[in-house]
Amino acid sequence: MPETKYDYDLFVIGAGSGGVRAARLAAMSGARVAVAEEYRVGGTCVVRGCIPKKLMVYASEFPKLFELAKGYGWTGQEDAKFDWKKFLVAKDIEISRLSGIYMANLAKAGVDVLQGKARFTGPHTLEVEGRDKPITAAKILIATGGRPKVPELPGIEHAITSEEAFHLEELPKRIVVVGGGYIAVEFACIFHGLGVETTLIYRGSNVLRGFDEDVRAHIADEFRKRGLRVALSCSHLSIEKTDKGLVSCFTEGMKIEADQVMFATGREPYVAGLGLEKAGVELTEGGAVKVDEQSRTNVPHIWAVGDVTDRINLTPVAIREGQAFAETEFYNRPMSFDHKDVATAVFSQPQIGVVGLTESEARHEFGGGVDVYLTRFRPMKSGFANSEERMLMKLVVEAKTGRVLGVHIVGPDAGEMIQLAAIAVKAGLTKAQWDATCAVHPTAAEELVTLREKYTPPELAAAE
Ligand code: FAD
Ligand code: NDP
Repeated sequence: MPETKYDYDLFVIGAGSGGVRAARLAAMSGARVAVAEEYRVGGTCVVRGCIPKKLMVYASEFPKLFELAKGYGWTGQEDAKFDWKKFLVAKDIEISRLSGIYMANLAKAGVDVLQGKARFTGPHTLEVEGRDKPITAAKILIATGGRPKVPELPGIEHAITSEEAFHLEELPKRIVVVGGGYIAVEFACIFHGLGVETTLIYRGSNVLRGFDEDVRAHIADEFRKRGLRVALSCSHLSIEKTDKGLVSCFTEGMKIEADQVMFATGREPYVAGLGLEKAGVELTEGGAVKVDEQSRTNVPHIWAVGDVTDRINLTPVAIREGQAFAETEFYNRPMSFDHKDVATAVFSQPQIGVVGLTESEARHEFGGGVDVYLTRFRPMKSGFANSEERMLMKLVVEAKTGRVLGVHIVGPDAGEMIQLAAIAVKAGLTKAQWDATCAVHPTAAEELVTLREKYTPPELAAAE
């Protein structure tokens, strides 16, 4: 039953992926719900993350397609030109449309949307910028997301992050992208695809730390074939502004001149100015809101979901965490989101799709009892046009039970394929069950159900 001594049964801070899902579901149960949003409804995913990023990925893929088209007998595409400003206008119209849909859905569910930054003034009390009266709520959900994090170095004020990359007035001629995670890799590919002279700078030995080693090696090879310049083991010292642009300075005296320098060096939970101390909400050492499996903080009537909790920072995860919270608290259907075997895609060029354990994680957990199936091949579409591109597919299997523990794909449509493979991994299906599934021909995905030969990594083969 709704508690009436408060203004609202639920107050949600942040109308992003997690907050919107929780607010809508809770309101649809009959609860009185408000959500505060300081910027734009839809949050990072809709406004400056997944959606505009994917549109930029699509835009940047055309030159490669034009190139392939030649192999299929097409001509005339040499004259194709890209109009960045026109793209930005169309992209912004689409983002406004989507944000509007989110707004409409919240209104339809009966949620009060309050524009402005919210902050705690007490355990049950909040203030929202621009409103005189404090607001009280029985339950409060923190869903404030994350913010880009950049290291402190001289000249860092000249650098941009992904937030600004979506609104650059001009497409730069030259860019340095710093980092080796999702955002750095995706944006380096976007700029490279759009014809920007791009250098991806990473401090480690290969990008995408934490991904399967064969995936990392394969993607590095594909970047090389596509002419994307990657500088590894490089540490940034400073950025200097000159009359010709920006100069990135690195250890060992290396310098790169560019028009833009983009830092994609991670994100941090966005808790600044939230007044968490007024409510007594605890943080982890890393600065995320500390929660249990049910997304409950140390304060029993306050929960947190999504990037602000820094568990798995992906849109569908924030949505599921928000949903589990609302189901538990407003429908009396207790549940928690299972963070195991969450599939993910890196929208690099080529794409990466992964779910489950990497080979090294599996070997660590299961010792020698791991079988690997791996194939590299020329995808039909680009192979016909004489492209050197290769696709990678890898299955990691528990030897004793035959259960498929991990799937790793690099190549066209990897993001689409991994969504379906994730069902089988989540369901715990065995390699024999995968193989009993008849192939769809001619596709790349059919390789996943026709892998017969076990693969021995070269270092293990040498030791045998
Ligand atoms: P958010 O979506 O960030 O929403 C938080 C909201 O809270 C924001 O709207 C913010 O303005 C608001 N807010 C914050 N503080 C306050 C306050 N005090 N008062 C009022 N409002 C406040 N994930 C994927 O799954 N696939 C992708 O392809 C993908 N691409 C990405 C690309 C980029 C460039 C980035 C940055 C992220 C990407 N992500 C992707 C991650 C994904 O966007 C996030 O995991 C997801 O948006 C997290 O949702 P959330 O609800 O936790 O937070
Ligand atoms: P990531 O954590 O993925 O990567 C950060 C990168 O920056 C790492 O390579 C890290 O290196 C490097 N780095 C960190 N600090 C420094 C420093 N001081 N100097 C130089 N390099 C540094 O963060 P992202 O910003 O790329 O993305 C944030 C999150 O957003 C992702 O983890 C993901 O959850 C989500 N996201 C998801 C996408 C998708 O689903 N397709 C797309 C974009 C974002 P090292 O590895 O050595 O620590």
